[in-house]
Amino acid sequence: MQLKVYNTLTRSKQELVPIKPNQVGIYSCGPTVYKYAHIGNLRAYVFMDELRRVLEYNGLKVKSVMNITDVGHLVSDADDGEDKMSKSAHETGKTPLEIAKFYTDQFMKDIDALNIKRPTVCPCATNNIKEMIEVVQSLLDNGYAYETEDGIYFSVEKFPGYGQLSGINLEDQRHGARVEVNSFKRHPIDFALWKKAAPNHLQQWDSPWGRGFPGWHIECTAMSKKFLGETFDIHTGGVDHIPIHHENEIAQAECWLGHKAVNYWMHSEFMLIDGGKMSKSLGNTYTVSDLVAKGFAPVVFRYFCLNVQYRQKINFTWDGLESAQTAYNKLCNLLVQHKNSSATTDKAVLDDFRQRFEEAINDDLNIPLAIGVLWTMLKLPKSNDVYKLALQFDKVFALDFDKVKEQKVEIAVPDNVKALAEQRLQARKAKNWAESDRLREEIVNLGYAIKDTATGYEIALK
Ligand code: AMP
Ligand code: ZN
Repeated sequence: MQLKVYNTLTRSKQELVPIKPNQVGIYSCGPTVYKYAHIGNLRAYVFMDELRRVLEYNGLKVKSVMNITDVGHLVSDADDGEDKMSKSAHETGKTPLEIAKFYTDQFMKDIDALNIKRPTVCPCATNNIKEMIEVVQSLLDNGYAYETEDGIYFSVEKFPGYGQLSGINLEDQRHGARVEVNSFKRHPIDFALWKKAAPNHLQQWDSPWGRGFPGWHIECTAMSKKFLGETFDIHTGGVDHIPIHHENEIAQAECWLGHKAVNYWMHSEFMLIDGGKMSKSLGNTYTVSDLVAKGFAPVVFRYFCLNVQYRQKINFTWDGLESAQTAYNKLCNLLVQHKNSSATTDKAVLDDFRQRFEEAINDDLNIPLAIGVLWTMLKLPKSNDVYKLALQFDKVFALDFDKVKEQKVEIAVPDNVKALAEQRLQARKAKNWAESDRLREEIVNLGYAIKDTATGYEIALK
């Protein structure tokens, strides 16, 4: 296998060498289940799925673990403010458990709709509190953490490698512009491993330090070790996790275990909306249901995502999704024609396309290039062999090529052609056949065909 992936830690593309031959363990930071996933979140999980599919295409057995964060993710990264789950519970009058269950179910429906394979294990943070307490205790025992009035904190100065993933420097952070909000901390970016809970706090457990709840970062360390072992192959997440969440995971895991825990760190870039940030106040945090309500099948959104490599930002616009719809329809029509053909294609020709496809996907998941290879292949004379090879490619794309049927391709008709068609309709109503024929010729000369129907006309490409 010649798969290369970009490792954020080494800032380079590296050949993927699994720890165990033919097996790969992946841990992906999962959703915080207090709201619907928006399409930006879902881009991160399309990436997680593409990675898994590329590994499986290469013959590797994948164990994929994605946590469900149902406690500990505070509204502020500075270990202050309400827990996102509790905030939502207060706002809705429901319990955190009810909220977590509802949004976990919704999330699973969304990933099913997008053909994202369900991870092998999706552990909830609240089911693994004991494991987290063990890690915190060990860090305390070994001098990496300290107790304060409001919790247990990790001391970043005790880990010489702190900042290696994001390239930050502890001294800059101490003197940086960021406001120190928690006076209990020895260093501004020390982070909470455990928080002591006020009696009315909704989610709390017994611990050696009294009643409380875990910090967000510790869950990923405790659960990745539990389900994947002390060192595993790949850890994924969105780029926003690099500077805090993943930097903290590395620090606490390496101090706890005494060695490296993750071999490759992979991060997907953000999705922008209309070139800017997605935010509730702008009303642009769209969900899968919003796309469906506008008539777009979830698979079209997947196609839209696949057209940009995961390390590039992707800009979502409704026009862009519309173009993805048109392209996807054309793709399906070509696939149907190949499917319905009984002709064959020379094996050498097909092997060449297969090789180009594999080179693309194995070059740090260059899926856009692989889709380009597919489009070129579909221009070959119609043949069932081409369809069969496209089905192989679809093990990676997951774009439902096995279900293709003829799609009505919507074409963008220019205004001048529309005007000529309208004039022609009037001429026909007036039984002015010579004018009608002349207008038809004019339309044909512009590259369009016009067909009369019971209700008027249809315009197509010539
Ligand atoms: P959260 O539920 O907030 O923890 O986020 C879940 C995943 O979505 C994380 O991997 C984030 O990095 C990712 N994410 C959040 N916002 C965006 C966005 N606008 N574009 C792409 N990924 C995002
Ligand atoms: Zn995580």
